[in-house]
Amino acid sequence: MGSINVFTGPMKCGKTKRAIEAATIQKIRGKDIKVFKPGIDNRFAENKIVTRSGKELDTLNISCIEDIENYDADVYVIDEFQFLDGDLEAINRLANKDKRIYISGLNLTSDRKPFGRMGEVMCMADKIELMTSVCEVCKSEEAIYTYYSGPKDSDILVGEAGYMPVCRECYEKLSMGMINL
Ligand SMILES: [Zn+2]
Repeated sequence: MGSINVFTGPMKCGKTKRAIEAATIQKIRGKDIKVFKPGIDNRFAENKIVTRSGKELDTLNISCIEDIENYDADVYVIDEFQFLDGDLEAINRLANKDKRIYISGLNLTSDRKPFGRMGEVMCMADKIELMTSVCEVCKSEEAIYTYYSGPKDSDILVGEAGYMPVCRECYEKLSMGMINL
């Protein structure tokens, strides 16, 4: 059978890199891999995904989850899944057809609310890797949240300006104004 694998956590936790690595192992085994991302994320380049290690992969832009069913592959990687909406059953249908699905996305918004359909897809997954990064405020604790320090005019998090990974304690202190950036 196929499987649904989710890599999640705050920004800069390495979730995209892990999804790409997992898919690359399948590529070495001769599997056909396709990488998808929502059309709105043009952070670095169009139709390419650039991992923090500088590796480039061609990507296909999709506007909703079920768009991936229009493509044939053995392995489906979906990056920035938190921005996608649509038919989650599409992912089960592919996994039931022996396809491996690797999903990466932010679990929480900067307000610490479940981000888009991430919560649901995590409940459906065969396997979840909940990753952490390093808190950019205290530089010592594990960051589990993404904090937004800029002006608030949109719920949609695209790009990284004003966002930073922080630990639980620093998030609280920032929220209460006990730390000024
Ligand atoms: Zn901290």
